[in-house]
Amino acid sequence: MGPGMGRVFVAGSINMDVVATAERHPRIGETVAGEAVLYFPGGKGANQAVASAKQGVPTTLVGRLGTDAFGQELRRFLAAQGVDLGFVKDTEGTHSGTAIITIANADNTIVVVPGANARVDAKDVAAPVLARGDVAVSQFEIPLPTIAAFFARARAAGATTVLNPAPAKRADKALLDLVDILILNETELGFLTGTELKDGDPPARFAEAARSLATGKIVCVTLGKRGVLALTGGEPLLVPSRAVKAVDTTGAGDCFVGALASQLAGGKELRDALAYANVAASICVQRMGAAPSMPTVDEVRSALS
Ligand code: ATP
Repeated sequence: MGPGMGRVFVAGSINMDVVATAERHPRIGETVAGEAVLYFPGGKGANQAVASAKQGVPTTLVGRLGTDAFGQELRRFLAAQGVDLGFVKDTEGTHSGTAIITIANADNTIVVVPGANARVDAKDVAAPVLARGDVAVSQFEIPLPTIAAFFARARAAGATTVLNPAPAKRADKALLDLVDILILNETELGFLTGTELKDGDPPARFAEAARSLATGKIVCVTLGKRGVLALTGGEPLLVPSRAVKAVDTTGAGDCFVGALASQLAGGKELRDALAYANVAASICVQRMGAAPSMPTVDEVRSALS
């Protein structure tokens, strides 16, 4: 992780979130009239790639879309955000990743169908050529063997590997051993370590739980409005976030990961990259939505100064 000007490569999911709002949720077998339908580009891979690209760092997304209308729409949106889509394949015989979300009375139900995301394979992630100074990022919305293949190649090229193990899933040690920087929230930390953790627990409790994961890697635990806790081998480092009025925290974690990756690719030291990512995510939580709420480099810089 020395200084340099690398690129960010994100291997991950691309989804269309289809949101229907209604006065109340239907009971099983019932139909209710809804109020509105909204379409939001999403998927953790896409969100993190957008967050990185908007920091002005060359960012390539590796993934798959279906040959449906959502696929075309997602491609247009991501290209407009400055994400390089040269390694996003259209896939016959399946659909683009889709999340069907129903919101009523501030409660939601979500069904996510991975579609093309489940087809991202080792050949796909072998296509882009990574180099020393690049940053390889992934999450748990594509097959885990694909992530292992991606990180093994990235490591061999001298790139830094960043894993956001979300949504939480059992992962074998061989995959975790390929990770340089693990970024996870309280829930994922609790799941991966088998520890009972609560949102309001003191940072020392999270540090203790994270220690078992921190062998040979840096572990960053995002703590919502409290900021981020980093275990780098020495004393745990707590980098506080900015006090802001949060409107919608959807995508905050993705913003944090993408912004952090962009700064590491730009040669920043970890501590500075963490502070930058906190500020980027604090801007994201002040806006509705995930991908569309990622801040630009100018917005982050002006909040930092
Ligand atoms: P989500 O699932 O909502 O996308 P997450 O649970 O993965 O988020 P969090 O730990 O809630 O991740 O938040 C990630 C980062 O976003 C935090 O480390 C912090 O930098 C920023 N953040 C989140 N909530 C707030 C807030 N209320 N005020 C300021 N910053 C926040």
